[in-house]
Amino acid sequence: MTDRILEFLRNRRDDGPCLVVDLDVVRDNYLAFAKALPDTRVYYAVKANPDRQVLDLLVGLGSSFDTASVGEIEQVLAAGAGPERVSYGNTIKKERDIARAYELGVRLFAVDCEAEVEKIARVAPGSRVFCRILCSNNGAEWPLSRKFGCEPAMAVKVLELAHRLGLVAYGLSFHVGSQQRNPKSWDNALKAASAVFRDLAERGIGLQMVNLGGGFPAKYLKDVPAVKTYGQAIFRALRKHFGNRIPETIIEPGRGLVGNAGVIEAEVVLISQKSEGEKVRWVYLDIGKFNGLAETMDEMIRYPIRTPFDGDPMEPCVIAGPSCDSVDVLYEKEPYPLPISLEIGSKVLIEGTGAYTTTYSSVGFNGFAPLKSYVI
Ligand SMILES: *Cc1c(COP(=O)(O)O)cnc(C)c1O
Repeated sequence: MTDRILEFLRNRRDDGPCLVVDLDVVRDNYLAFAKALPDTRVYYAVKANPDRQVLDLLVGLGSSFDTASVGEIEQVLAAGAGPERVSYGNTIKKERDIARAYELGVRLFAVDCEAEVEKIARVAPGSRVFCRILCSNNGAEWPLSRKFGCEPAMAVKVLELAHRLGLVAYGLSFHVGSQQRNPKSWDNALKAASAVFRDLAERGIGLQMVNLGGGFPAKYLKDVPAVKTYGQAIFRALRKHFGNRIPETIIEPGRGLVGNAGVIEAEVVLISQKSEGEKVRWVYLDIGKFNGLAETMDEMIRYPIRTPFDGDPMEPCVIAGPSCDSVDVLYEKEPYPLPISLEIGSKVLIEGTGAYTTTYSSVGFNGFAPLKSYVI
């Protein structure tokens, strides 16, 4: 929460829930990453918040960009980044989208299997490819599934094929899981990566780059280690596993760059109980899973919520969204304490919502507008 955001909200016309992003916070975050990992290039994971003003700021600061689709590539190029600052980091791409990215000048692609390498060799000849490997997501509050990446032994084959087909077998990538609260999580993945580097070196293929992925946390209810601590842990792991031949490295922060820069203002629509005897109150907001808070899925991300009555006695509440879909409940398994004095019509501030909110908002499910966004 920043004074600039509070000031903006004081003067805003009341027209439904909205996200306000403070660019000063994004700038501070970017500079903190640059300082914590001085030899590492930052590729902002655009999907976290592709707002034009966020992209403009990051282009100006010298960031590069991790993109997942032709649409995202075009957004980044429109903001003024040259294609040499773009990585097409999705391992699942249509061949015609690869061809389009190549036409736009993109030369860096992610893969995790031989079929994807073959597509790239056909329509993006000579490009650099990095292979994503699976790694443990222990310690992450938003763990990723096995959807992306392959076992390290398979990565050796995938990159060998890339080399044989005239591509540059450039390196490896991994993602330790989003909202990763343990800075030591990079250690195991880097151990596996260094083994692949050695295997391929023995076959005459010299990899150059390790993409350390995202995973850097935003502060929600629990404290998280500072970016500096992550930088130190990662550098230590690089030294340990690569000795004095540390490869080129990149990071792809999404949540860690924009998460804490945003605040959502929402309104209490209804407070009710299910029976006379039941203590738990149901608090219904005008924002839910379908208009911005999708990351409350399985109650994984628990946002800090501020109310005008903070400091008053609290009571555990179930918090739910406004739509007529019964899965649109934010916190129920672990009820959320809110002030007893909270009223229908009260405004609440949901903090740490700069990442994965606007883009996860449906187009108009149930007639509720997509989440509005203001960048200041
Ligand atoms: C989503 C994504 C990221 C960003 O992850 P965060 O945990 O938000 O930092 C980075 N890299 C890739 C390939 C991604 O898909």
